[in-house]
Amino acid sequence: MSFSLVTTSWFRLTFPLLLLLMIALGVNNVTSLIEANSGVSTNLPYVLFASVILLSHVFKQSRCGMIATVMLVAYWVVQHRLQSPLSTGTTLLELSLLGILLPICCFIVYCFNDNSLRSRGYLIFVVTLSLMGLWSKLILTHFAEGGFSAVNDSYLQAVTEISLLPFLLVLYLSSLTLVAAIRVLKANLILDAIIYSAMLTASATFIFFDVAYISSTLFSVSGILLLVYLMSASYELAFNDRLTNIPGRLALESDLKHLGRKFTIAMLDIDHFKSFNDTYGHDTGDDVLKLVASKLTETGGKASVYRYGGEEFTVLFKGKYVDDALEYLEELRESIASYEMVVRNNASRPKDDKAGSKQRGKNKATKTVSLTVSIGACDSSEDRKVENIIKAADEALYKAKKGGRNRVVAA
Ligand code: GH3
Ligand code: MG
Ligand code: MG
Repeated sequence: MSFSLVTTSWFRLTFPLLLLLMIALGVNNVTSLIEANSGVSTNLPYVLFASVILLSHVFKQSRCGMIATVMLVAYWVVQHRLQSPLSTGTTLLELSLLGILLPICCFIVYCFNDNSLRSRGYLIFVVTLSLMGLWSKLILTHFAEGGFSAVNDSYLQAVTEISLLPFLLVLYLSSLTLVAAIRVLKANLILDAIIYSAMLTASATFIFFDVAYISSTLFSVSGILLLVYLMSASYELAFNDRLTNIPGRLALESDLKHLGRKFTIAMLDIDHFKSFNDTYGHDTGDDVLKLVASKLTETGGKASVYRYGGEEFTVLFKGKYVDDALEYLEELRESIASYEMVVRNNASRPKDDKAGSKQRGKNKATKTVSLTVSIGACDSSEDRKVENIIKAADEALYKAKKGGRNRVVAA
């Protein structure tokens, strides 16, 4: 399902690494495969990146499209400008410029939102790339005219046992790839995985640039990974709730088809949420929904959680009857009730800006509030029909509300 092994941060971190390791171990096989199909393998990255760009337009995933654009341009530069030995002409300088600019282009993508490729964001991104291309051209012209003659000796020194790439650049690429990897571990957004995979494959290509066919091999891997992530992002988009970023109704309906014999379904509803919205405004209400969702994800007992709709959530325990699930539901109710949220008290915000800044200075426009939830639960011990169990859980929830709210009731 949407939160299976393949979307965990550790999988996203190690999978590209494992692919690279497998290629490194079977490098002779890879080389002979590429030699036998050289036309196809040289063009494969172009086809893959172009497909990613096209699909990212269709799926409105412009940030993935931006990374694919960067990789496509980088691959073109490698194929058209960097095929002569590194020691000749400006090849090493060009490779170094590419190595410096590529991570910058990848990280800039964090500044944008996802949209179609006809958006202003993508246009700005492409213009930025073109300006970087122009800047590189100016540097190369200056170099060809005898400018920075000492650059090769001072900054482009390589430790040839490690890489033919300047050592400073090896450090730069490795540390930025590490930063991207840490982002995968910490936030694990799909964009983090996309940027990390691009950074890893490109850095490995530049660092081991002298290995035959490395660019077409690793850029093909990068193209395949981008395609996989693009599909995975579209899948998450369909199955995850946009506001709270936890699985939504569609994910629940899909999971309810694979339940087994023993399970418990709990319906959770925020108490007096309407008056909360009326007091603090809809935006603060949205923040509260996000907070409740994040508390839900901490539910113990291997529970799966979903936003059912509005201010209602569903908690699903596979392999547990209500008796076993109750303690986790009580814990959840308690943790929400005891959490003190800092909210902006929109209703008490002054009308004019001057008074507003005075108040903000005194920190009076914020307030801590707590809120409670009611939960109704039912298991499959008597009736295994999912619709009936949800109905019974709903009735139990109704009883919890009637009984004074802030409680868990089992059907
Ligand atoms: P009860 O304790 O009986 O559940 O009272 P309640 O006020 O929570 O119940 P009711 O169903 O009357 O109100 C639900 C409110 O939830 C109404 C609606 O404004 C609010 N709501 C639903 N979806 C959203 C949303 O996505 N964002 C925000 N801010 N509010 C929402
Ligand atoms: Mg409700
Ligand atoms: Mg409610």
